[in-house]
Amino acid sequence: EPQLIEANDLVKTYTMRRGVFGKPSHVRAVDGVSLSVAPKTTLGIVGESGSGKSTMGRLLLGLEAPTEGSVRFDGEAMPALRTPRWRSLRARMQLVFQDPLAALDRRISIGAQIGEPLAIHAVGSEEERRGRVDELLVAVGLRRDQAERYPHELSGGQRQRVVIARAIATSPELLVCDEPVSALDVSIQAQVINLLRDLQEKRGIAMAFISHDLKVVRNIADRVAVMYLGRIVEEAASEDIFRSPLHPYTQALVSSVPVPGTALRDRIILQGEPPNPAARPAGCAFHPRCGHAVERCRVETPEFVTIEAGRKAACHLVTSASASTLMES
Ligand code: SF4
Ligand code: MG
Repeated sequence: EPQLIEANDLVKTYTMRRGVFGKPSHVRAVDGVSLSVAPKTTLGIVGESGSGKSTMGRLLLGLEAPTEGSVRFDGEAMPALRTPRWRSLRARMQLVFQDPLAALDRRISIGAQIGEPLAIHAVGSEEERRGRVDELLVAVGLRRDQAERYPHELSGGQRQRVVIARAIATSPELLVCDEPVSALDVSIQAQVINLLRDLQEKRGIAMAFISHDLKVVRNIADRVAVMYLGRIVEEAASEDIFRSPLHPYTQALVSSVPVPGTALRDRIILQGEPPNPAARPAGCAFHPRCGHAVERCRVETPEFVTIEAGRKAACHLVTSASASTLMES
């Protein structure tokens, strides 16, 4: 099955001038990640802060170059940042991030900002572009007469709708959404998620949807990749992740999310420190917080392997055999 975007063994290393013990240290923000997004589907990328998920988003869009590994978009190797080829691919993949105020220019009307990508990519005449801006406003649930408004005259939810309208202006095939609703009230979050789902269905847009919030991801993702300290620890169809999470970290995350139609699970409280990319534990990086850790976990890093068709996990205790026992129970 052809994938729209494919990342292969991505590594992104940063040098911190003052890392552990005040000495310069190398941080592997992303540490060997492979993932792909099929056309017209949504991959949820879930993790705590420090898991490398935002870096993953930027690598997918070519906004940062990987230290190792490669990204392919529609079969083509990602061109270098700001080259003409990268600019033309950018019309086909767009970013929506958390803070719409930071994404918008407060001195420019929202109509002009929505039309900006069309002007940059020289789509149609000026008049056609104005008509397109009207369509986009309506498509994201705003009114045509709001084109003359400025960002500060809108609510947070409306501003995020403006950002989304601008992101879909060039009819991209891929949206990378990084915590797109985290700054919004819970009631508004659902509306913006519904809008994204609606746009995906009507326009066939694929999404990489990055969030720390599993509740939000459950409402939009077809597949879910769970990241911990720069690596994917589990990846599966969304329903499998929520019905029968395999990795102890995923189990802990899922235990805090009520899933309709599923018996309430006992909440698994994560012990220990939140992940710190500058101080990665040896062996399985999750072992200091894992309730199932055995001696082997402290020394040997688990491989990310296929457990069954369409399901992968990186845990010494999760094997094809253990997974089938879990499915039967
Ligand atoms: Fe826990 Fe060990 Fe599995 Fe890591 S490999 S998640 S420490 S059981
Ligand atoms: Mg982030």
